[in-house]
Amino acid sequence: MPSYQLQVVGYVRSPYKQKFAIPRQPGLIAEAKAELVLEKGYDDDAMVRGIEAFSHLWLVFVFHETADKGWSPLVRPPRLGGNAKKGVFATRATFRPNPVGLSVVKLEGVLRRQGRLVLQLSGVDLLDGTPILDIKPYLPYADALPDASGGFADSAPETDMTVSFSEQADAFCQRQQQVPELRLLIEKVLKQDPRPQYKKQRSDTQSYGMTLYHFNIKWTVNGGHNHVTEISLQPD
Ligand code: SAM
Repeated sequence: MPSYQLQVVGYVRSPYKQKFAIPRQPGLIAEAKAELVLEKGYDDDAMVRGIEAFSHLWLVFVFHETADKGWSPLVRPPRLGGNAKKGVFATRATFRPNPVGLSVVKLEGVLRRQGRLVLQLSGVDLLDGTPILDIKPYLPYADALPDASGGFADSAPETDMTVSFSEQADAFCQRQQQVPELRLLIEKVLKQDPRPQYKKQRSDTQSYGMTLYHFNIKWTVNGGHNHVTEISLQPD
C-alpha cells in the first residue's frame, strides 16, 4: 500500500492540557482561545497572505496523543451512551487508521511574536501541542450545508448541568489577569459534563480535576450540579 510522508507545519498552543474536558467538536466553546505557531520553513508571511479575509479555517491535524494506541473498525461514540457501535468511518473518533483530525476554527488574528508567525484562533477542540499538517480557508458556499443530515450527531450536545464556584475559586478568577475569560471557560467546559460516560449513569459525588492554561481546577459533581471547589496555579 502506498504511504506518504507529511510534514508538520505548526503546533497548537491551547488551554486544554489533557484530553479530558476538551469539547467533542470545535465551535462549542468560543472562549477556548488558542494559537497556531508556524514551524520554521512555514512561518513565511507569503504563505498566509490573504488569510485574514477568512473568518474561519480548517485545520488538518494529528491526534498525536493517541496516535500509537491503535484503532478498531467499530467504535462506541460517547454521544450514543458508549454502548452502540458504529463504523470508524461513520464517526469522528480519535482512534482511526490514519490518526488525522479535522477542525474548523475561528481566525482571530495573525501576528508575529519573537520572530515566529502566529495565527490566533478560538473555538478549538485541540489538545495543547497538537501538530498541524495543513491549514485551509473555510468556504461557506461549499462547506456550510444546512440541509445535510448529521446521523447520530444531528445537533450540538446539550446538558442541563449547572455550575457554581466556591468563594476561593471565584476570587481566584477575578484576581488573576492573564485570562480574562477564565471563569466563563471553566463554566462552559463543566456545563458540557466532561465526565466519562460510565460515571454519568449514576449519581456520583466524586471530585475531579483538570488543567486549563496553567491553572489547576478542582470540582465536585452532585447530581446535575458541578461545584468548583478550588483553583490554583500549576507549580512550575
Ligand atoms: N474535530 C476533530 C475531528 O472531527 O476530526 C476532532 C474530533 S475528536 C472527537 C475531539 C476529541 O479529540 C477531543 O474531545 C479530545 O479529547 C481529542 N483530541 C484533541 N486533540 C487531540 C490530540 N492532539 N491527540 C489526541 N486526541 C485529541
